[in-house]
Amino acid sequence: MKKVVVFSQIDQDVLTQLQQEYQVVVLNPKLGDINEQIRTEVVDADAMIGAGRLLNQSNLAPAQKLKMISTVSVGYDNYDVDYLNQQRIWLANTPHVLTETTADLAFSLLLSAARKIPQLDAWTKQGQWKRTVAVEQFGVDVFGKTLGIIGLGHIGAAIARRGFHGFNMDILYHNRREKIEVAQAFNAQYRDLDQLLQQSDFIVVAVDLNSESKALIGAEQFDLMQKHAVFINIARGSVVDENALIDALKQNKIFAAGLDVYAKEPLQSSPLFELPNVVTAPHIGSATAETRQKMVKLAYQNLIDGLEGRIPRYLVNPKFE
Ligand code: NAP
Repeated sequence: MKKVVVFSQIDQDVLTQLQQEYQVVVLNPKLGDINEQIRTEVVDADAMIGAGRLLNQSNLAPAQKLKMISTVSVGYDNYDVDYLNQQRIWLANTPHVLTETTADLAFSLLLSAARKIPQLDAWTKQGQWKRTVAVEQFGVDVFGKTLGIIGLGHIGAAIARRGFHGFNMDILYHNRREKIEVAQAFNAQYRDLDQLLQQSDFIVVAVDLNSESKALIGAEQFDLMQKHAVFINIARGSVVDENALIDALKQNKIFAAGLDVYAKEPLQSSPLFELPNVVTAPHIGSATAETRQKMVKLAYQNLIDGLEGRIPRYLVNPKFE
């Protein structure tokens, strides 16, 4: 019987389905060092499924017949793809099914940060609403403003659509290469990164994490933004120099930020927690019941395909047999 290692919590129905056909080992961080568990269980495993763990040579090296890793995520920066290619281990991901939900989250952060919703929610619940709000509690307008999107991929385009149709925004974008057709749908104008940062009222980062996007936004880039700018990151924490962002927020170089992702996750303590002008979400871009279900089903299908020798639909590596 083929062996599958489950390295994070997954939907119970999918787990039950897997258990009917394969030998399944579910790792549990409460039972000790997770990397040690991976190293032990991977030795005779045929496949792995899960999300949110770093998988690379250091914990996969003992694997003797691993054929397939199915990640329940679209981002695959947690995996050493070069190593997987070298070992001829397939990696498959779950694009598309989370695009709209993640774009919703980006817009939730944008609106929350622009209108200071979390701060004013706390203020109201603390019984401080004894008079009308003061000028310092005012937000900034969103409707009709300029939205700059860095990374006009699937999620970036879904964010652009919301801004263009829902909020009558002018859309600017920056991408490694121009996306003429996608951009036409929202009348989005291409800008180089510096121009986009200088001209946008709202800046949303939606790139995948790769060698070119790592630390793409640092002190120099925050200095270019407008004082009233709202900065949103739903991509990956390492795309942004978090210390530079904290400085920019502390010195009111920008109006506010909305973050879903961080340099180190889970974020247990951070100077960000002390700042009133940042909205912090705990990496919930795709975290709705419906979307997570779709993702895990897709990941299951990828896994089964890989295990049965069919090339998975959403393969990340080149198509080696
Ligand atoms: P995608 O379709 O691959 O889009 C990524 C876009 O970023 C592509 O258009 C790519 O350009 C562009 N890009 C990459 N590096 C760049 C750089 N250095 N400068 C400018 N543009 C660059 O991926 P997606 O489905 O939209 O997802 C994007 C990322 O969002 C994922 O990789 C993941 O890390 C993150 N994400 C987060 C959550 C969450 O829970 N917060 C949920 C889902 C996804 P090219 O066209 O040149 O490749």
